Amino acid sequence: MIQFKKVNKYFGPFHVLKNIDLQIKEGEVVVIIGPSGSGKSTLLRCINRLETLSDGELVVNDVPLHDKKININQFRRDIGIVFQHFNLYPHKKVIDNIILAPMKVQHLKKEDAKKTAMYYLKRVGIEDKAYNFPSQLSGGQQQRVAIARGLVMNPKIMLFDEPTSALDPEMIGEVLDVIRSLAHNDGMTMVIVTHEMGFAREVADRIVFMDEGQILEVATSSEFFGSPREERARTFLSRLI
Ligand code: ADP
Ligand code: MG
Repeated sequence: MIQFKKVNKYFGPFHVLKNIDLQIKEGEVVVIIGPSGSGKSTLLRCINRLETLSDGELVVNDVPLHDKKININQFRRDIGIVFQHFNLYPHKKVIDNIILAPMKVQHLKKEDAKKTAMYYLKRVGIEDKAYNFPSQLSGGQQQRVAIARGLVMNPKIMLFDEPTSALDPEMIGEVLDVIRSLAHNDGMTMVIVTHEMGFAREVADRIVFMDEGQILEVATSSEFFGSPREERARTFLSRLI
């Protein structure tokens, strides 16, 4: 579903992604971990072409992203992304945030879009907030709206970039629960950047450990957390405990 081949990315002279090789299968849940600044967000953002590559090849859902001629809007329909900051439109009610893309991109009628939106709001457990404004919701609830907005286009791939990092501790659990249920039930391909190691261990089919723009280790969750091969991964984990 996702295939990086010798991908490099520079920001000016700064070499942010170094020779990335990574393959992610359909239905797989992959968690990317690593120190701040190691390139995790940049790697994730390449997957839906929020960042372009400097060189190498990246094929996502059969679309060669290194090819400049692809129809990017068409491509992005199949990919949902959830960021650390929820990026909801503050002046639109929850439901209106969610129906935007289905109406604009899929040309659904408003009533049909609302039905779909309600289905996903129910999935994330906040259908009772559909007609509130984002500011009337807690951080955890807002993030669940953002997840529903990502799901509403029925994407093949969901990307999460530190979805709980901006939340108060008591709200982290409710958001992780939603992501966990998607990982277990939907067979969706998911790539998740997180610092929640307990969650990573439990939800990931594989762990990707990054440092300084490189992938240093790819292993199953039990291998990685059982005994990481890389010294830097061991150091990283020991600092978190
Ligand atoms: P992570 O998500 O692992 O914290 P990022 O992918 O956000 O890391 O960033 C990796 C490195 O690239 C950091 O040193 C960051 O400062 C740098 N960087 C990220 N985005 C840009 C940008 N648009 N321009 C220049 N440097 C950037
Ligand atoms: Mg980041």
